[in-house]
Amino acid sequence: MRTARERLPDEVRAMWVVRTSLVSPQAIERVVELARAYRFNTLFAQVRGRGDAYYRSSYEPRAEALAGLPADFDPLSYLLQQAQAAGLMVHAWLNVYYVWSQPQPPRSRLHVVCRAGNWIARDRGNRYQMTTAGRVEGVYLCPSNPEVRAHLLKVFGEVASRYPALEGLHLDYVRYPYEGYCYCAGCRARFRAAMAAQVSDRQRRELDRKSLRNPLAWIQAFPTEWNDWRREQINVLVQAFARQSRQINPNLILSAAVYPVPLSAYQHKLQNWTLWLRRDWLDTVLPMAYHPDTAVVIHQMEQALQAAQGRPVIGGIGAWRIPPESTLNKARAMRQLGARGFCLFSYDAITQKGTSEAYLQQVALGLSYTP
Ligand SMILES: [Zn+2]
Repeated sequence: MRTARERLPDEVRAMWVVRTSLVSPQAIERVVELARAYRFNTLFAQVRGRGDAYYRSSYEPRAEALAGLPADFDPLSYLLQQAQAAGLMVHAWLNVYYVWSQPQPPRSRLHVVCRAGNWIARDRGNRYQMTTAGRVEGVYLCPSNPEVRAHLLKVFGEVASRYPALEGLHLDYVRYPYEGYCYCAGCRARFRAAMAAQVSDRQRRELDRKSLRNPLAWIQAFPTEWNDWRREQINVLVQAFARQSRQINPNLILSAAVYPVPLSAYQHKLQNWTLWLRRDWLDTVLPMAYHPDTAVVIHQMEQALQAAQGRPVIGGIGAWRIPPESTLNKARAMRQLGARGFCLFSYDAITQKGTSEAYLQQVALGLSYTP
C-alpha cells in the first residue's frame, strides 16, 4: 500500500476554496465544474472558518452563513460527492487557533468564543481583539490550554472519521498571531510550573516574589525558554493531530499552510514547521509565498524546499493580488524549483465567486494542460 505522501499527484494543481463558496449546492457545483474544466486535480476547501462548521459537527456550531439553508445541507458532504464524480481530490481545510473576526460576538452559545474566557489568547496586557487590526486578525485560542487542545482534537477527529472520502486534512493558522501572544494567566502559570522544576529554590522564591509586582517576571528571566515553550505548545498539537488522524484513516494526507521562510515562521509565528515535516507528522506543507514579485517568491521557495529536505512542498501563490501572467510565471517557477505543485489563493478571488472563467482559462492555457 502506498503511503499517504506517495498518494500526492506528481503535480498538485490546487486551489484554496474559501468558505464563502460553500454556501449553496449551486456554488459547490460551480467550484467543481470550473476546477475540472481547467484541469485542477485538488481542492483545499475551508470547512472550519471561524470556530464554526461547514460540515456536520457535534462540537461546533453550524456556520452562520448557512442559516438560510435546509438544516440537513452538509457542504462538505456535497462537495465530496460532486468532486468524486469529477475525479477531484478534496482536502478539508481547517483554521486552527483563529476563531473569530467580527465586532459582534457569535450568535451560538456553543461557539468557542462564548465558552470560557481562559480559552482565548491574550497579549502582554491581557487583552484580545475581536477584529483585524495591526498584526492580529482577530480572536485566537490559547495554544497551551489543555481544554483548547482537547477540543481541537475532537474537531479534527470528527472530520476525519465522518468523511472517509477526504483525501487529506489541511491545517491553517496553526501558529500564534505573532510573538506578542499568548501571555494569558494560564500560559504564565504553566510556563512558571515548567521552569520552577528546573531552577534552584532560591531563584524560584525570588522570581515568585517578583511576580507579585510583575506578572511577566518568569518570562523575562527566561526569554529563550519562553519562546521554545510556546513553540512546543503548537508542536504538541500537531503531533497529536497526526497520531489521531493516522489512526482514524491512514490514507489521509496531512498538511498545513505555513509561513514560507522557515526562520521567520519559527521566530515570529512560533511555527516550527520544518520539525513537523522531519518527524513525519505532516506529509507536506504549503508555504504561503504570496509576494507579488516572482523573484521574492523563488527565493522564499528555495528556502522552504531546502528546509523540507526532500519532503514534498506545494507552493502557495497569492493569485488574488496578481494578474494571471504573474501566477503563470510563479507556477512555472514552482515546477523548475522541484516543488510538488502549486495552490492558488483563492478560487473565490480569481473567479469572482464563480462568475468569471477568464483567469483560470489563461492559467490553464499557459501551463498547457487544456484539452
Ligand atoms: Zn495562553
